[in-house]
This record gives sequence, C-alpha cells and structure tokens, in this order.
Amino acid sequence: MSSIILEARDIRYRYPRSMEAIRGISFHIRKGEKIALVGPNGAGKSTLLMMFNGMIRPDTGIILFDNQPVRYDTASLRTLRKRVGFVLQNPDRQIIAPTVYQDVAFGPTNLGYPETEVREAVTLALRHVGLEGFERRPPHQLSGGEKKRVAIAGVLAMDPDVLVFDEPTGGLDPSGSEDIMELLDELNLEGKTVIISTHDVELAYPWADRAILLLAGTILREDVPEVAFGNPEFVRTAHLSLPTLLELYIELQKRGFPLPEKKPLTVLDMMHIIEPLFQTTCCHTGTGTITVCNVDKDRQELLSAWLLARPKIPVGAMGTRAKQCASNEHIPLDFTYGVIDKCILKALLGEDTLILTTESMVERVYTRVDAYVTESGIHITVNPLAPGTGRAKKESGRQP
Ligand code: ADP
Repeated sequence: MSSIILEARDIRYRYPRSMEAIRGISFHIRKGEKIALVGPNGAGKSTLLMMFNGMIRPDTGIILFDNQPVRYDTASLRTLRKRVGFVLQNPDRQIIAPTVYQDVAFGPTNLGYPETEVREAVTLALRHVGLEGFERRPPHQLSGGEKKRVAIAGVLAMDPDVLVFDEPTGGLDPSGSEDIMELLDELNLEGKTVIISTHDVELAYPWADRAILLLAGTILREDVPEVAFGNPEFVRTAHLSLPTLLELYIELQKRGFPLPEKKPLTVLDMMHIIEPLFQTTCCHTGTGTITVCNVDKDRQELLSAWLLARPKIPVGAMGTRAKQCASNEHIPLDFTYGVIDKCILKALLGEDTLILTTESMVERVYTRVDAYVTESGIHITVNPLAPGTGRAKKESGRQP
C-alpha cells in the first residue's frame, strides 16, 4: 500500500464572527489516490480543501504533508504550494494575466525558474490540457471549459504531487464536465494524487477511490464509494441522493434477486448484473396503494386523522406548498424528489405510501402511475385521500 501524503489530525476551524466550519476532522490520503469530498453546500468542503495548501490554517489540530506538519511561514508555504496545486471552482478568480501564456507562466516564474524552464513548463502544461496554440489568446475570450483548462495548466506548470479541485465541473456543461473528469483521471494515472470536492454524487460515485462524506464540518462516512454511499440512511442524513446505479442495485436486492456482492459502479457493471436475471422470475407479493393528498383541497384534520391511523407510512411531498404543509404539520418526509417513482417502487414491494401534492401536480401522479402500469402490466392503485379531490380511482393492468 502506498504511503500517506496528506493527513489531518483533529482539525477545527472557525471563520471570524461565524459558526465553526470544521469541527474535529481526522483522515489521511495516500499517494496516488482519487478522493472525493462529498457534501451539501456549507458542509465545509472548500474550507477543508484550502487547508491542504495552507490557504487556511486550522485553529487547532494539525495538517501533515508528506508526514511533516505544515508550517505557515512564507518560505514553507511557498514550497507546500508548489507540491499541492489548487484549482478554484471559478477560473475567472484564478486567471489573472492578459494572455494564456503569461497566466500559465505565472507560477513557475514566481518560483524563480529560468526563462527556458518556464517556457518548457508552460508548453508541457498546455499540451497536457489540450490547449497547445492558445498561448497568445486572452483568457476572457475563451469558453468556460477552456478557462478551466488554463487554470489547471497554471497549476500543472509547477508539477505538483497533489492536485486539489474545488467543484471541478461547477458551471460546465455535461460534455465539458466529462472532459475535465477524464483529464483528472489522466493526471491520476500519471501519478498525481487528485482530491476533488463536489455535491454531485453521480460524479463522485464511479470516479473516486474513496469518498469522504462531509456534513456540518464533520466526517459522516469515509470509505470506497460503494460503501460510503451504500447506506441510504447516511446518504439522506448528508442531504445527498443515492447514486442511481446503487439505488437500482438495492431495489433488486430487496426483491430477493441473487446478486453478486460487488456493487455496480458503471452501467456496464449493472448490465453484467441484470443480464442473468432476465432468466429468473421476480415474485411480487401484491402491490401497495399510493394515496394522494391534494394539500390545496383536502382538509387538514382529515390528513392528520389519516396519518394518525398509519403512523409508519412513508410520505413524499411534491411542490413547494406540499413541502410547506408537511413542515407546518410536522410530518416527516421520506421522499422529496423523484417522489412518484419512489412510491411506485414501494408499491412494488407491497408497501403503501402517501404523496402530499399541490393541486397542479395531482394529475401528474396519476399519469406517471398509469404509464408505469401500462408499460409493466403490474397493477398499482392510486387513491385520493378524500373522495372528489383527486382523479377518479384508476385500476388498470393485471394483478401481479
Ligand atoms: P462547502 O464548500 O461545503 O459549500 P464551505 O467550506 O464553503 O462549505 O463553508 C463551510 C461553512 O463556513 C459554511 O457554514 C459557510 O457559511 C462558512 N463560511 C465559508 N466561508 C466563509 C467566510 N469567508 N466567512 C464566514 N463564514 C464562511
């Protein structure tokens, strides 16, 4: 196993006149690892990343780089920043010079490299990020993806051992994001340790060697992605969503299908898992019912009484008013996005659910369930909470 390159020992940090942003965090990162810090906004990801190259100094605890405690005098920080490159989320904040060449040359020039070495470092870095020929271009005329590459080249020109990216795909379109993630993989394959922060679970899940789930300045979980994201409770606590492939795997597991222990990281992995299942038959025990509460019409007392009689029923809410209603009435929500699909999944397991929804979205519940029933041939009943507030009861498809 390779040696440790970065380590945090019980670090804490509070911004002036603010709450504690990092609350006693310890972990280590090995040379050559791909690490994703994953958490919702405000979890402390950027703050933690900024400690890796000394931009922020912990109030207590220590950061070690290459087994040495980080020192904060100017000379030590200069050496550290050569070895730990930091790419900001917004390239406009990182790119400072009037041409691409001058910008990428800024780091090596500052480090006192002779002219020929600077030129060599810039050429190599621009080639690395696929921007050869861009030397004379003014950065402000470039696309978002190209600016990001200039910022990365500026860091690569110093040939750091560790690359830290704050939200590497923030503001990029899907294909620009894929390109950047591919570049990160390439750099990692060349031996760099790569650390990213993201709230994008789908991005982190197949990419990272290890994921560190952060919430409110503490580590909630730290493990290989299949394990770190494998517990729906943890994922929900971290205000994140399950990676789709993992969610699918868990749903198949609940239905008793024989599955390999190794969870799928890619669609291809998933295909390997599900192809043999086509020969097996799934055994439904009977479907659950989805009840729809129209929060714009249904009386509050009726809803309260209904819930009182079904204390454990999973509840989802669609629409701002429905979520507001749940909050006002202290109704804990099990689903707040992808609500209809999640209730269909529960129904397939034989479980009843309740959807709180606004008037305008009632029809969507029936339409989506209808579409599923037609496609699958499996019967699912949708009932309005109070007669006359939903659509007429739908019953179609065959009984499982
Ligand atoms: P993330 O990157 O996960 O979104 P941050 O590290 O930016 O989280 O923020 C962690 C916490 O620190 C948040 O509560 C945020 O409001 C606070 N914070 C971040 N930057 C500052 C700052 N410059 N001054 C005061 N508080 C800050």
